[in-house]
Parts: sequence; C-alpha cells; structure tokens
Amino acid sequence: MGVRFTCKDVAARADALIDGELGLWDRLRIHLHLAICKGCDHFIHQMRQTKAMIRASAALPDEEPAPAALDAILARVAAEPEPEPKPDG
Ligand SMILES: [Zn+2]
Repeated sequence: MGVRFTCKDVAARADALIDGELGLWDRLRIHLHLAICKGCDHFIHQMRQTKAMIRASAALPDEEPAPAALDAILARVAAEPEPEPKPDG
C-alpha cells in the first residue's frame, strides 16, 4: 500500500472514517485524497448524510406509542365524518 489512497482505498474505508474508527494516518490519507478528488469528496459527503439519517431514525423510540398519543390518534379517527350511508344500505 502506497502513501496515497486511491478511490478504491477511500471507498473501502468510508464507513470506518465516518464512524470515527480510522487511525490518524488513514484519516490523513483519506483527507489528502478528498482534497484532490471531487468524486470521493462527494461520495463521503453523501455517505455522512445517509448515516446521519439512519442514526436519527434509529434514535426514535421503537416501543409502543404512549397511551396519550394513542388516545389522540383514536380521537382524531373518531372525529372523522361518518361515511355517507349507501342508498341501498
Ligand atoms: Zn477518489
């Protein structure tokens, strides 16, 4: 492995970079590459956004909705107008 990272090297380490799992030298080499390679710069940027979104959705509680929230939903459903009775009903 040379001093300079290729696009493939960067792609292979993108995950680890964003997760902060890379060592100082790998990080430096990636940033050197990003400075000269718009494609990888864009790629890392996109991946950061994707990961941030995944993290945000993972942070949402996956437990049952609280009873109060459930009541609010039921109240809203109950407030819906009754469907028109069918003529032949
Ligand atoms: Zn590149």
